[in-house]
Amino acid sequence: MNSKYRVILLITILLIILSFSISTVNYFVSLDSAQKQLKNQSLPLSLDNIYTEIQKHIIEPYLVSSMMANDTFVHDWLLKDENNQERIIKYLESIKNKYGMLSAFLVSEKTKNYYTQDGFIEAINPNNNTNKWYFNFLQNQENHEINIDFNKHISNSLIMFINYKIFDNSYKYIGATGVALKISYIDDMLKLFRQKYGFKVQFFDENGNIVLSEKGENLHTNIDKTNISKEIIDKIISKSTTMIEFKKDNDDYLINTKYITELNLYLSVEAKIDNYTKDVKKILYFNILLSLSITIIISFVVFRIIRTYNNKLESMAFRDPLTDLYNRRYFEDEFLKIIKMHNRTRQECCIAFIDIDNFKDVNDTYGHDIGDLVLKQISNILKNNNREVDLISRWGGEEIVILFLNTDITAAMIITEKLRELIENDAVLRHLTSSGITASFGITAVMSDDNIDSVLNRADKAMYTSKSNGKNIVTVI
Ligand code: GH3
Ligand code: MG
Ligand code: MG
Repeated sequence: MNSKYRVILLITILLIILSFSISTVNYFVSLDSAQKQLKNQSLPLSLDNIYTEIQKHIIEPYLVSSMMANDTFVHDWLLKDENNQERIIKYLESIKNKYGMLSAFLVSEKTKNYYTQDGFIEAINPNNNTNKWYFNFLQNQENHEINIDFNKHISNSLIMFINYKIFDNSYKYIGATGVALKISYIDDMLKLFRQKYGFKVQFFDENGNIVLSEKGENLHTNIDKTNISKEIIDKIISKSTTMIEFKKDNDDYLINTKYITELNLYLSVEAKIDNYTKDVKKILYFNILLSLSITIIISFVVFRIIRTYNNKLESMAFRDPLTDLYNRRYFEDEFLKIIKMHNRTRQECCIAFIDIDNFKDVNDTYGHDIGDLVLKQISNILKNNNREVDLISRWGGEEIVILFLNTDITAAMIITEKLRELIENDAVLRHLTSSGITASFGITAVMSDDNIDSVLNRADKAMYTSKSNGKNIVTVI
């Protein structure tokens, strides 16, 4: 490969390696920092935010329920005054209104009557499906629970019940009380965290069941039905872990967990790591694209610069600086090649030897600079009136040699005669020197046994014959 192309290729490869390594290092640094940011800041912050929200919304009703369960008025009423329903209804109504709950309720164990702020609703019956919660609650070891359920008496949407058992002074169970609140605000909160941060927030109970998640979809789902493996759920419900990393369907996930003592629930905030590193990948692709474009531009510019300098160097080596004609060395090299080819193809070639007439007088009369301009103008005339393939060379001071390719001697004569006339009648030359300029021509055909010296000697001789015969003429040998 041409050495100039090799240099460009090398520069291009180096630039590509450089930009790829910078982009790759950048990518890994940014990836690492995006992951750290998610792990150390975004996830824990969201967990804390949710926790605070939960506290705000659940702990208060919890306290209200607890207060109701421990209220001496409620105890007294259940034990001695259940016939007077007005009083408990007023009480429940005041609780509901004071704390802005959806409902406040009470169940008497003695009568199995179920009361809300709206009055006596129904008698609890173990065979009635909607009353099952009460009997389940009785089985529960705990004295209180959160129950998320429908209750057609209260609302058509999911409701969170905070149930508290009521005991008399001798720890005998006498009923259950509590408040109900809409959980749509939790749903809104979970939705917000998913939409804004891409986090999936869920609440697990101590058995690893999801008790609360967005839209209540996974409500009371068995572990098998959740999309997290049992192993991970075990980690979530072990109070010791807070950050869990795991793989699911070839994607990496992070879960940050917190145990909420008041609810005996485990809060988990799950994030797909890819969602947080997408931008980093986009930046990587952009960087690679950008550096490739810059590499292409730089390579192109370098190519242009090298080509320009190369052309200049070539021109300096092969051309005469004044006339821009080929120099004698180049002509000799090319002539050897052409002669070889000529011997093979048997195509005819001719040589013309041109010497400017009385050029010394031009210099003497008009100065060397005008002499230079005359040389240039004659060179231009010769160049402009020859074919691309013909080789024109400045042989010496004011001597020029032309090699006509694929031209027999008759054609060469016609061409040189035309050139002679063009020089003689050239307006520029007339302008430079008042009397104009002429040149003498000697032409000869290249023979198969010729070498450069023999053919040029013949042409030179022919040119001298033109000089001796009065100049400004073409002589053929
Ligand atoms: P003739 O008609 O017999 O060829 O006469 P001549 O004066 O042209 O020939 P001669 O060999 O006596 O002079 C050639 C002159 O060309 C001498 C030299 O100073 C001049 N010359 C050679 N090279 C250059 C050049 O590059 N620039 C200029 N201005 N003159 C040059
Ligand atoms: Mg001469
Ligand atoms: Mg001369």
